[in-house]
Amino acid sequence: MEAVDLHAEVWEGIRNSFESGRLAHAYVIVGSPRGNALEFAESFLKLLYCEGAEKPCNACSKCRLIESHKHVDTLWIEPQSKARQIKADEVRGLVHRMTQTSFEGGWKAGILVSAECMNTTSANILLKTLEEPPPKTILLLLTDSPQALLPTIISRCQKIVLSEGQAGTTDAAWNAPLMEVLHELPPSSGLDAARLAGRLKAILDAVKAEIADEVEGELWGGDEALDESKLKEVLEARTNARLKEVQAEVFRVMLDWHRDLLMLVSKVGDEHLIFSNDRNVLAEQSTKHTQSSTLQAIQVVEGMARRLDRNIPATQIFDEAFRKLVRD
Ligand SMILES: [Zn+2]
Repeated sequence: MEAVDLHAEVWEGIRNSFESGRLAHAYVIVGSPRGNALEFAESFLKLLYCEGAEKPCNACSKCRLIESHKHVDTLWIEPQSKARQIKADEVRGLVHRMTQTSFEGGWKAGILVSAECMNTTSANILLKTLEEPPPKTILLLLTDSPQALLPTIISRCQKIVLSEGQAGTTDAAWNAPLMEVLHELPPSSGLDAARLAGRLKAILDAVKAEIADEVEGELWGGDEALDESKLKEVLEARTNARLKEVQAEVFRVMLDWHRDLLMLVSKVGDEHLIFSNDRNVLAEQSTKHTQSSTLQAIQVVEGMARRLDRNIPATQIFDEAFRKLVRD
């Protein structure tokens, strides 16, 4: 019974936001993407489109179109194929639809079933829309493993929890250690800078090893017949391509962190912090910064990302960058 009560409470919250015109642009709905999260998403959409007096009426033509996933202004995406991935092209298509005018003049909605199946490229495409949502659009991300979504996606969505996700099964393994490094910023000395640079390097090395394992598994399991030298080449190319995606995400998290810091240093208020759970840590760090030192730190992080793309050894890049971040 408890789950139902929780569900009812959450539903009232959504209904109130809808009636007062304060809906968020994006929601992560945590529950079963084929069960309670799906039902919740359908009810949510009916609320937006229903033409009955008592919304949702579950009887009008719009409510029925929502139920059959055929409403023209709603776009449903779910993982295709054996690989169970939500491909970049599909997300690109959805993002494009969101920028166009709606067919019926009302809301446009994008629904991602099993949103955790987005690969990093897909997620980064979606992220751009989350950063600048077109008016009168809504995104619903259905997932039972919210911890598998990029932290930058989660932080830009309102979270609706219908049931607990399976904790820790597919968590991006680099996220927790990266947050630990961010919590220790800024380095207090050259020695401290070298230590933190080493930890970031170790995080990315672990990511690389994990990706290589994954790619190797795919190559052995796939039906491509490759000789050994070719296999090694493909393995390396695929591993590096995916590593770049993760690196881009790691640096995005680092940049977001510094943007939050800038917001606190500039005293523009803390209600829009991306890392609102880390408010205290950020506030503490902001006392060691000025506006210009924070802007400088942002440039340093951007510089790290750029130099890494140019195949300069990571150790050298991180050492130099963290040294520039030192504040005593
Ligand atoms: Zn209706």
